[in-house]
Amino acid sequence: MMNFNTSYVQYMYSYPHKTAYRALFGVHLQDYARYLKGRGHSLYLHIPFCETKCGYCNLFSVTGQGEGEISRYLEQVKRQLCQYQEILAHYGTGFSDFAVGGGTPLLLSEKQLDTMFSMISGQVSFDQKAAFLIETAPNQTTEGKLRRLKEAGVTRVSMGIQSFSKEELALLGRRHSPETARTALKRLMAFDFPVVNVDFIYGIPGQTVASLMASLQEALTYEPGEIFLYPLYVKHGARMEKMLEKGMALDGRQTLCQYREASAYLRAEGYRQDSMRRFVRVGKSASGEALPERDLQDCGFHTSLSLGCGGRSYLGELHFCTPYAITPQSCLDQLRIFEATGDFSVIRHGILLSEEELCRRYVIRHLLIRPGIPLGAYGERFRSKPQEDFPIIQEWISRGYVVHSIGKGEGGEDYLYLSDEGMALSDYLGPQLISPWIRERMEEWERLHEKDTRKQQNKNR
Ligand code: SF4
Repeated sequence: MMNFNTSYVQYMYSYPHKTAYRALFGVHLQDYARYLKGRGHSLYLHIPFCETKCGYCNLFSVTGQGEGEISRYLEQVKRQLCQYQEILAHYGTGFSDFAVGGGTPLLLSEKQLDTMFSMISGQVSFDQKAAFLIETAPNQTTEGKLRRLKEAGVTRVSMGIQSFSKEELALLGRRHSPETARTALKRLMAFDFPVVNVDFIYGIPGQTVASLMASLQEALTYEPGEIFLYPLYVKHGARMEKMLEKGMALDGRQTLCQYREASAYLRAEGYRQDSMRRFVRVGKSASGEALPERDLQDCGFHTSLSLGCGGRSYLGELHFCTPYAITPQSCLDQLRIFEATGDFSVIRHGILLSEEELCRRYVIRHLLIRPGIPLGAYGERFRSKPQEDFPIIQEWISRGYVVHSIGKGEGGEDYLYLSDEGMALSDYLGPQLISPWIRERMEEWERLHEKDTRKQQNKNR
């Protein structure tokens, strides 16, 4: 029998988790740059600045940095990009997409946004139909900044609204009001970007199915192209952890209930569900244009290069990033180390994955996102079947969590994909595919991190 409070174990956004990364020695970008040969790669820029730290935030972000500090950061990113480009010049590297995430990228002033876009477009080669993505928050979504994004050719803007309820926003520690979110969303839609995404959170203590549905119904009146629905997690080091210590509880049963109602509603309203979190409007856009079909790019082995502090790079078996940090102080410490870095081509922190771990990554990334694992492609790459390599998948098939469709998947392929019930349990099923080696490293990080936080708390007493 399923225990609902264990349905939300971990968001398997990318495998393996950053807490499994460790210090690396003798690793240089030059040795892995061959993975960036030719075109079609992804480029990511992390802007780690926020107005305040949200209560649940476990992302790499710092607060209290002024315009001067942000400009200094952009200067360092420019230096990093120059060093990378010197290496990549031999490989004819071209990118098919560029994403700016954070943090809150639109905390940059209009001038800084211009600097950022001209730095990138001046040095990077993009495919003709490259996608440009950026994240924003309601308080920073001004007319002037949106105009800058439009001029720079941004194709997708994602805004973190989280809720239209004042009480829920206050509990999450968000700085914006429902009214600001409404104004910002209206303003954003008026610019007619090809895709607008809005993020919402459920499972907030005190939130009801009715209040979640009210937020979503209101969101749909703006007709966004995509909606991401995130269950609330409070990880160790997040500000809301204190509220949990004082007795506030996250209710897994209620969270699952909210998910079921919300996902059924969005599907009924014409949104295709790609994963437990992602809903994409299909058919025609608000302005009557045909909406893009599902992107079937191979998400297991796609190559991605990150700029700045806090973003991850994936180059074949090498995954790297600055050390994982959650608390504002530990993020700030990493930011200072980044700024003092002389040679960015030396990779100091990350992980080298074996073929077995790469296979796990492929399975996790594909199984949790529809259309699922393409069995033909899997066989070609790994000379085997996922059910044989990971017997637990066979068990999930027999329980109805995974569907084995023969010749009925997209493009007539055979697929393994999560049923609706399996999709609801993504954060319970996915973590079961973590290897013992990675799990051990993640647990070790948690133990060490807990000790460090306690030390810090004792010091502050
Ligand atoms: S959740 Fe987003 S907006 Fe809030 S502090 Fe974290 S990165 Fe910044």
